[in-house]
Amino acid sequence: MRSFEPLYDTLDAIKLNCLFSKCNRTFYTNNSKALFCCDSHRGKYFREINAERLQHEKNYTVGFSNNAKALKRLYHSAIRHCNERELIIAGFSFKTMGQPKQTQDGRVCFKFLISF
Ligand SMILES: [Zn+2]
Repeated sequence: MRSFEPLYDTLDAIKLNCLFSKCNRTFYTNNSKALFCCDSHRGKYFREINAERLQHEKNYTVGFSNNAKALKRLYHSAIRHCNERELIIAGFSFKTMGQPKQTQDGRVCFKFLISF
């Protein structure tokens, strides 16, 4: 139970400050481990501290999606073999790819996970 006024009869007597930077409101609770004044601020706090990672994941997802579209266009145009320049012209981005791997014959290969 949380309240914004001290309610001693319901044991909401522990005075805490909300951890969310844009709130920092004083609230009263009977839970000494409470960190946030409400569930909304709990979610906003974790989105705030994970914003950079979430944006990176979003960019990665968009990049993979665009790469899949470019490869689909090439595949449906019956173009099965093309070089790096032709891939770039088709809209393929090399920014979103996994770590390069070297094959047994010395070639460097990249793995792209795409579902058609
Ligand atoms: Zn809050």
